[in-house]
Amino acid sequence: MRDLARHEAEGAIIGIDVGASTIAGGLVTPRGAVLASVQRPTNAGGPGTALEGLLSLVAQLQGEARARGIALQGVGMGLPGLVDVDKGMMVAEKHLVPGLTRVPIADRMRQQTGLPVWVDNDVNALALGEARYGEGRDARSLVVLAIGTGLGGALVIDGALVRGRSGYAGEFGHMTVLLNGPACFAGVHGCLCRFLGGEMIAREARIRTGQRRDSKMLALAGGDSAAVTTQMVFLAAEAGDEVAARLVDDACEALGACLGNTLNGLNPDMVVVTGGVVNSLLPLQDDILRRTAKYALAEIFADTTIRLLPSDKSSTMRGAAALFLYESMRRTLSPSLGPTEER
Ligand SMILES: [Zn+2]
Repeated sequence: MRDLARHEAEGAIIGIDVGASTIAGGLVTPRGAVLASVQRPTNAGGPGTALEGLLSLVAQLQGEARARGIALQGVGMGLPGLVDVDKGMMVAEKHLVPGLTRVPIADRMRQQTGLPVWVDNDVNALALGEARYGEGRDARSLVVLAIGTGLGGALVIDGALVRGRSGYAGEFGHMTVLLNGPACFAGVHGCLCRFLGGEMIAREARIRTGQRRDSKMLALAGGDSAAVTTQMVFLAAEAGDEVAARLVDDACEALGACLGNTLNGLNPDMVVVTGGVVNSLLPLQDDILRRTAKYALAEIFADTTIRLLPSDKSSTMRGAAALFLYESMRRTLSPSLGPTEER
């Protein structure tokens, strides 16, 4: 209890992770302790209700902080798509939560909470969290690849998040792994996300199991091909299902190629591979590393730490808090970027 009181006295940041299926938020101290957390389905009130849900989740956390006497510094939020950090919104038309496209989320949140609010891509936030509190603490150059429903990536070098010219750097999910391959949802041909994202694997499996009565995936899904999940694909592959094994083989080979290319291009200290699909990839770690070695220069591969880390919601909430601290500090150091408080 004394520990809790000490943490509460430090104050907290509201850290929010908006996913395709779940919004998770927490009260996170500047040192990364999660004092409270809540989750709700992204579209709990039906399609298009994500913003409403987001605002009410933040109000709930603000109420909790008030009741416990915890001083709030602000709100950090990770969003599942291309984000314009200065405008505080998602900008791409094609992403996993269409209801949030071009909605000025940060402004709406500032109006409601009276707190400074910063948003960025969810994997950028996650990478800042890993660099500040997690596995990447001692890495000078850290690459994060997040494999969930979709695929995302981010890059932190010497404590700085590499955003690139438009803010979209680190999109390793759209790295080419098959020349002239089929297009992904974003219109990029032959990219990793066509082979590895959770949604893609499940969708491909549903199509391919349709006519096969002997499918182990179909058996796991109770005979309903529409109910096949990514996890079932990996389980069926392990049990010897040929179609599933082919999907898993392609996914691992594509991941190996992406990791190899990333290593060759950046020569990073560490690569963290995380996200919901990593639980299924963990038993295949040695195989994935063997495949990576095929595509990487031997000298670089030998000198890079690659970690597969199962994801949990507290690391994404901590990431959002780390984003808030990072943006606040960046704008304090460079006032020309814009105010740290209300704009
Ligand atoms: Zn793609």
